[in-house]
Amino acid sequence: QLYVDLRNVSLVYGDGDEQTLAIDRLDLKVREGEFVAVVGPSGCGKSTLMKLVTGLLPPDGGAVFIQGRKATGPVMGVGMAFQNSTLLPWRSTLSNVMLPFELVQPHRKRLRRNADEYVEKARRLLDTVGLLEFADKFPWELSGGMQQRANVCRALVHEPKLLMLDEPFGALDAFTREELWLMTQALWMKQRFSSILVTHDLREAVFLADRVIVLSKRPGRIILERQVDIPRPRA
Ligand code: ADP
Ligand code: ADP
Repeated sequence: QLYVDLRNVSLVYGDGDEQTLAIDRLDLKVREGEFVAVVGPSGCGKSTLMKLVTGLLPPDGGAVFIQGRKATGPVMGVGMAFQNSTLLPWRSTLSNVMLPFELVQPHRKRLRRNADEYVEKARRLLDTVGLLEFADKFPWELSGGMQQRANVCRALVHEPKLLMLDEPFGALDAFTREELWLMTQALWMKQRFSSILVTHDLREAVFLADRVIVLSKRPGRIILERQVDIPRPRA
């Protein structure tokens, strides 16, 4: 069963003489529960690809299908985590992690009725990543690694079927980064979301992904695609 299905997708920035073909006739399929990493040099179209998959940019050619349905606008309910922590500074860790319940349908409708259950869900997730005792702290009271941990928790708390990761651990030291790889892998084994990870780090790609895709620069095109055959723990 395919979750993400990009068919012959192209994207051009600008118009007239100032055109950049950022993505060139790309086919990308991600099965349910599959973890795919996209690597390539700066400017090869990784951010553009993320925007195409989440429906933030409509393709200029081809089509994007999510769960078999053609995407015609922003895809709702996708979990996302970026390089910079986007925690809201005026909210506690717990309250940041609860955000998807306030923003994402249908959780939003159920929030009043299920508030306790949602708090419990968020706390359990924070516990899984060792942040429970920081639940009531504010983002500036956490280290960079802890902030990214909370960031990933927020992306997953509403159990999305698709998690988009755009260089989420790029700014961290090597030790913390590897800790977060293990955390992400553990969460993936538990929740079995599909995921697309954009990264410059080939080791990160091979550690986390079932399949690694390499994009070329100008125009963004798949130049290499490899199944990762390293045995890894399975739930
Ligand atoms: P990153 O590689 O960190 O994801 P960006 O996606 O922000 O970086 O930018 C990648 C490239 O796209 C850069 O070379 C940048 O100059 C170019 N770029 C980004 N936004 C624009 C824009 N609005 N106009 C022109 N070029 C842009
Ligand atoms: P990456 O994330 O891999 O660094 P991007 O997807 O940001 O790559 O960019 C792909 C190409 O599109 C680059 O050549 C970049 O300069 C160009 N680009 C990105 N955003 C814009 C934009 N808003 N306007 C014009 N060109 C852009």
